[in-house]
Amino acid sequence: MSRTDGFTPETRMLIDGSLVGAASGKTFDNINPATEEVLGPVADASREDMQRAIAAARRAFEETDWSTNRELRKRCLEQLQDALEAEREELREELIAEVGTPRSVTYMAQLEGPLADAFRYPAKLIDEFPWERSLSDGDAFGTHSARAVWKEPLGVVGSIVPWNYPFEVTSNKIAQVLATGNTTVLKPAPDTPWNATRLGRLVAEKTDMPAGVFNVVTSSDHLVGEELTLSPLVDMISFTGSTVTGKRIMEKGAATLKRVFLELGGKSAMIVCDDADFASVVPAGSFVCMHAGQGCAMQTRMLLPRSRYDEGVELITQAMAAVAYGDPQDPANFSGPLISSRQRDRVLGYIAKGQEEGAKLVLGGGRPAHLPKGYYVEPTLFVDVDNSMTIAQEEIFGPVLCVIPYEDDDDAVRIANESAFGLSGGVFSASEERATAIARRVRTGSIGINGGVWYGADSPYGGYKTSGIGRQNGLEGFEQYLETKAVAWLRP
Ligand code: NAD
Repeated sequence: MSRTDGFTPETRMLIDGSLVGAASGKTFDNINPATEEVLGPVADASREDMQRAIAAARRAFEETDWSTNRELRKRCLEQLQDALEAEREELREELIAEVGTPRSVTYMAQLEGPLADAFRYPAKLIDEFPWERSLSDGDAFGTHSARAVWKEPLGVVGSIVPWNYPFEVTSNKIAQVLATGNTTVLKPAPDTPWNATRLGRLVAEKTDMPAGVFNVVTSSDHLVGEELTLSPLVDMISFTGSTVTGKRIMEKGAATLKRVFLELGGKSAMIVCDDADFASVVPAGSFVCMHAGQGCAMQTRMLLPRSRYDEGVELITQAMAAVAYGDPQDPANFSGPLISSRQRDRVLGYIAKGQEEGAKLVLGGGRPAHLPKGYYVEPTLFVDVDNSMTIAQEEIFGPVLCVIPYEDDDDAVRIANESAFGLSGGVFSASEERATAIARRVRTGSIGINGGVWYGADSPYGGYKTSGIGRQNGLEGFEQYLETKAVAWLRP
């Protein structure tokens, strides 16, 4: 193990209850996106390592009492919660270093949000969930039967996560997967492996979880993750990441008829009505720059009424110019670097495309001159964007906001819905009734009204259309990891 500032990373994987390196002995480098420096190594698994982890998860499901012993599951989730809380400050430093997330964001969705209830909520549901329910007695085919419905775990779940909010996505995912009695192999993104290997160590050292219930496999090769989608020993894939990869997972999983939960990309609209208090509402659009815009639910299209367009553009220009960005260690910053040079170049490519297609660039658009190291992009504002342009239709995943004018409420709804995605959004009006009526017409899996925040471990989160299938969190997320068995007893 190596020591970096403020935390000690775990460089080994967890397979079948043991902390291990790759069988080949290979490692790959974990890079700090703010400095471009190597933080340290992590195990670089092959397909064979992944197959061993899958076999361990299968064995643990078949041969231990994990799938049936609810008390054990609840105890283990609580132990894991306690262990994470004990390492909270180390985890914070680790996330800042490997994700490049601003320190300020760790007090929100990057760490404190999920730590508050990601494990607690499903642990509570273990007690409260109706695992069995009775049906009325049935008289079918000349027999009399007492009938019931049982809920049972699915089996082995492949948990595949992205790099943008890795601890948030991972903890919300695996807490529900494990609470429902499944076993799992967690495959983190290669860019952010240490928060996952830390979880592996904590499970091994601080909980009573039987060997093989929870496994963590790190690899520089995305196709090692694909092994999960191909293996007949895996029953379900729980995936958060890009829409392109989500489609591939469905395709590859079809051969073994895998259940899939897909939480994918977004291109959400912030609708500002003409009666809204512009001075307080419009500047909030700069929230799109939080963590360099690397958030799937970001409201990346701001829809402004034509009647107050110039006033709105002026307010959002001022707000975007005032975004504090740079070194993630600086608590004043709200926006840091992109995760990699590849992502930075992808964002810069979209900015060039926006200009080519005729959108007006009023702010940013390049790499900041004062930050020569790190994968930074300036907070960038496009106005006079037409919703058919590439920058209004595709997910940029950077600190880029597109302002689009609209004529009336119907036009705003039309533009919001004219998207392949349907993940999230926001509506702002002086009339809550008007905003609520608009929210009902927007085809997305979540929506905030006048700044309302829907997020929480008890709140189902996911997308309509190509933003995904299924929900993370909430009762809906919990049930998704369960099978349904209809049972009948012959009663003369
Ligand atoms: P990605 O799809 O490239 O990778 C996500 C994960 O999938 C990584 O662990 C990667 O190694 C793995 N992977 C890649 N190819 C695979 C394959 N063929 N088989 C199995 N696994 C494979 O996504 P990313 O670039 O890491 O993350 C950014 C994307 O995630 C954005 O599109 C963002 O919107 C989305 N996202 C969505 C949500 C949501 O809640 N809807 C949350 C966070 C991120």
